[in-house]
Amino acid sequence: MYLDSAATAQKPQIVLDALTDYYINQNANVHRGLYQLAFQATEDYEKIRQQVGEFVGVNADNIVFTRGTTEALNLVASSFGPLVVHPDSEILVTAAEHHSNFIPWQQLAKRTGAKFVVVPPDDQGIVTTDAIIDHVTAKTAIVAVAQVTNVTGHVVDVARIGQAVHAKGGYLVVDGAQAVAHMPVDMRQLGADFYAFSGHKIYGPTGIGALVGKKQLLQQMPPIAFGGEMIDMVTEAESTWAPSPLKFEAGTPNIAGVFGLSAAITYLTQSDAEAREQHERALLDQLRTGLQAIPGMTVYGDSEGVSVVSFNLAGVHPHDLATYLDEQSIAVRAGHHCAQPLMTQLNIPATVRASVGLYSNEDDVERLLSAVRAAGRYFN
Ligand code: PLP
Repeated sequence: MYLDSAATAQKPQIVLDALTDYYINQNANVHRGLYQLAFQATEDYEKIRQQVGEFVGVNADNIVFTRGTTEALNLVASSFGPLVVHPDSEILVTAAEHHSNFIPWQQLAKRTGAKFVVVPPDDQGIVTTDAIIDHVTAKTAIVAVAQVTNVTGHVVDVARIGQAVHAKGGYLVVDGAQAVAHMPVDMRQLGADFYAFSGHKIYGPTGIGALVGKKQLLQQMPPIAFGGEMIDMVTEAESTWAPSPLKFEAGTPNIAGVFGLSAAITYLTQSDAEAREQHERALLDQLRTGLQAIPGMTVYGDSEGVSVVSFNLAGVHPHDLATYLDEQSIAVRAGHHCAQPLMTQLNIPATVRASVGLYSNEDDVERLLSAVRAAGRYFN
């Protein structure tokens, strides 16, 4: 039984079919071959860029295909960061960020001499929208924040943070890795400058994701990887770049991954967003309430959180609990969840984390709850 969809979601048949169909019937490199199969692959690849854009409320040229959220955030930090961050700037993140949205900014701060400001959590592990806004100053060049954090599932108000950051002249980068599978994302409403997400967390393949960026910012940014298909002209003396987004996609891209991502978006959007949210909300409520009734239980985050519930059982190391659950064929995550600064702030080594997807159901949650209850009796 799989309750670790926040790490990566299981893949529906439509995604598997898209991958095999691409390799069996459509396999050709994109943006280079002068034959029908290659023209078709290129046309489909670019159509999918448009589909991904529509999925988040932007145009195709706002979409850079990346390997995932991590690569997208590193691209912004490495390419856009130095354009706007100076020695007297501040870069703001929260203690609840995934390392993918923490280390690139920490390293950028070190390279530029900027101040790295980390907004602390409350005792539930939550960094509120207000706490983030309170730390924005006239020196804040970049705020980088997850729309949904992967330890507590807390959701921040991106639009409100964006207004506060823009009012002070800064830029907002949003890590959407845990958000896109669970809520509609519309960049026109969020107003973020950059938004990153991964295909594999929305039922798509691994190794594909997107950076969504404002066009005028993408145009200003230099490429950070060089090679085939990202160029305009190359001479011995100088090279010039293709327009954005192609200048950020050096080398043969993950074409099959792009086709799989397309199928995943089709899968996700063919059902009603509200019905999806209600289904997952009911499961998370059942999980949270059930856990809270177990003696010695600490449940982190708040009841509004999405995607995940993190918890610890007194006297049981989270790794032991996860191993016990695994022996009953229940797959949950235990560890620091790539969020060590948050673990340090909460003064714990790790948590157990259960997360749900569209295929999860009440029986899954009930089985987990009864196994955790049994673990409480077994270990104590
Ligand atoms: N940000 C958050 C909040 C995540 O949960 C994850 C993955 O767990 C990432 C970033 C990194 O995503 P990826 O490993 O797909 O690049």
